[in-house]
Amino acid sequence: MSFTIAIDGPAAAGKGTISRAVAKHFGFAQLDTGLLYRATGRRTLDGTDPVEAAYNLTPEDLNADDLRSPEVAQAASRVAALPDVRQALLDFQRAFATRDGGAVLDGRDIGTVICPDAQVKLFVTATDDVRARRRHKELVEKGHDVSYDEVMADLQARDARDSARTTAPLKPADDATRLDTSEMTIAIAIEAAISIVQKRLAEV
Ligand code: C5P
Repeated sequence: MSFTIAIDGPAAAGKGTISRAVAKHFGFAQLDTGLLYRATGRRTLDGTDPVEAAYNLTPEDLNADDLRSPEVAQAASRVAALPDVRQALLDFQRAFATRDGGAVLDGRDIGTVICPDAQVKLFVTATDDVRARRRHKELVEKGHDVSYDEVMADLQARDARDSARTTAPLKPADDATRLDTSEMTIAIAIEAAISIVQKRLAEV
């Protein structure tokens, strides 16, 4: 049986953390779809055509250790605006979403485009300042030399580009439940997401 949980929202809102924890709790598979765009964007930095890169992603591309850098994040957001790149990554995401045993996917267009029939749709947000502080801490802990201001500029530029694009823009699905994590600890946010999923699971 398939059961799909779609988690969307702007950069660094806590989607990844919630998505991993929910998947672990229910024993579902988990896919961070941002990684697909990051790996594609990274390949374009050495001159590879974005559509060719998207069709030919390898496990090594998805495991590269600089995928989290702000430079790669910007490249991801640029290639993500190309309809042909999105098309190239569509089948893989849909197949993942409908696999047996349940799946959690997080991104920008999961509830609107990739899995419009997902059983649970969450739209996770937080204020710009909270998101920038969280992402800055995360990057510094991983050894990246970036300032809070640079992180804020990266998030705001990506959110603006991701929301303004014509194909699959960042926006909540009409039937998504909004979760604002600005004032929540990680534990509380995870608990809230789990309880939403639990209610839905009891209905199917
Ligand atoms: O989620 P993450 O910050 O890793 O995503 C990197 C970029 O990939 C986003 O800024 C966005 O442009 C793009 N993306 C997307 N659709 C998704 C996931 C990510 O356009 N489903």
